Amino acid sequence: MSYVDEVMQRVVEKNPSEKEFHQAVKEVLDSLRVVIEKNEEKYRKDALLERITEPERVISFRIPWVDDKGQVQVNRGFRVQFNSAIGPYKGGLRLHPSVNQGIIKFLGFEQIFKNSLTGLPIGGGKGGSDFDPKGKSDREIMAFCQSFMTELHKYIGADTDVPAGDIGVGGREIGYLYGQYKRLTGLYEGVLTGKGLTYGGSLARTEATGYGLVYMLDEMLKANGKAIAGSTVVISGSGNVAIYATQKAQQLGAKVVALSDSNGYVYDKDGIDLDLVREIKEVRRGRIKEYVEARPGAVYTEGKGIWTVPCDIALPCATQNELGLEDAKALKANGCYAVAEGANMPSTREATDFFQENGMLFMPGKAANAGGVATSALEMSQNSQRLSWSFEEVDAKLHEIMIGIFKKVDEASKRYGLEGNYVAGANIAGFEKVVEAMNAQGV
Ligand code: GLU
Repeated sequence: MSYVDEVMQRVVEKNPSEKEFHQAVKEVLDSLRVVIEKNEEKYRKDALLERITEPERVISFRIPWVDDKGQVQVNRGFRVQFNSAIGPYKGGLRLHPSVNQGIIKFLGFEQIFKNSLTGLPIGGGKGGSDFDPKGKSDREIMAFCQSFMTELHKYIGADTDVPAGDIGVGGREIGYLYGQYKRLTGLYEGVLTGKGLTYGGSLARTEATGYGLVYMLDEMLKANGKAIAGSTVVISGSGNVAIYATQKAQQLGAKVVALSDSNGYVYDKDGIDLDLVREIKEVRRGRIKEYVEARPGAVYTEGKGIWTVPCDIALPCATQNELGLEDAKALKANGCYAVAEGANMPSTREATDFFQENGMLFMPGKAANAGGVATSALEMSQNSQRLSWSFEEVDAKLHEIMIGIFKKVDEASKRYGLEGNYVAGANIAGFEKVVEAMNAQGV
């Protein structure tokens, strides 16, 4: 059996029922075959793939908090410190009822390669809880965040592990978490990113994942003789990533016609009114179906199905495995030619294979959505310097980083005779840097 197959089998056996983690590991290791085959004995002797698929540390803890009725609730928290070869662990915190150890491990694993691609000194980590923020009062969110940080603060620090937001964690939650960290440690340090602008946050961090996604899309299209201007775009999700991807795509001359949430999607043939979406999502914390109340021309459809909306470009920005094989076929049948992932692993393996086998341009999340974490690293730099840079400065750096990632991904795919296979290019380029650092640091 090849070394890659052996390790894949062992990962499945050692991590039973962590299916998203298996999926992410398989996808990465499959595309690393071309690299491993060149020096299989050396990789095997160094147990390199066993080491890279085993987190350095997994922390799991109890989060007790009191709800508005006085009832004590208990959630489970996680922080997976996956790989610190190239820098302090860096990655978001996700609050969603679906969160379990396997999901946090898949996200932490992806984060290693994503963070490596940014070219900045950040290792891979991820955390979160099965807490459901939906319908919770502000006080309940604060109580939960304080309890979460009461345990988490023991394991993190500006030079060890720097969490940020992810699904369910935005500016409000980061504020509560930061306040509790400071109360417990007395340290005013850059231990979290995505902070508010009044206490050490970076300009353009809020916009960064969505903007970065569109900068990356722009590079991929240009390299393939296409352009964003004049295209029709469908974006799933309506959170932070989707909102700022919509804004940047519109600025570059695209028409965004659909957005969604976990209940359904809106289609607006005249183009999404982003001010209205922001008012619904950011101010009211409401649902996307409220959009049609103010825009009579728009249509709301309950359920999945956003990928049946005809478009040139699809940007999945909601969550993992939201786009399956049937969705991929529907996109292709309706003329879609490019997909870039704003979420982490939103396309299933079957969908990804379909895109690639049918001549569609496909940029995986670990490259396409790396602008968020890259700008987090810029926030860390500013915190260390006790300085803050202008919006234009941060945005220009972000743009440059995304161009750099595209170049690395494209170059790695070409080096292995896989031109246009950006999945392989991203995995290989991300892997190479981490492996070099791991080797240099010994066992
Ligand atoms: N949660 C984001 C991601 O998936 C951002 C992480 C960060 O800024 O640390 O990359």
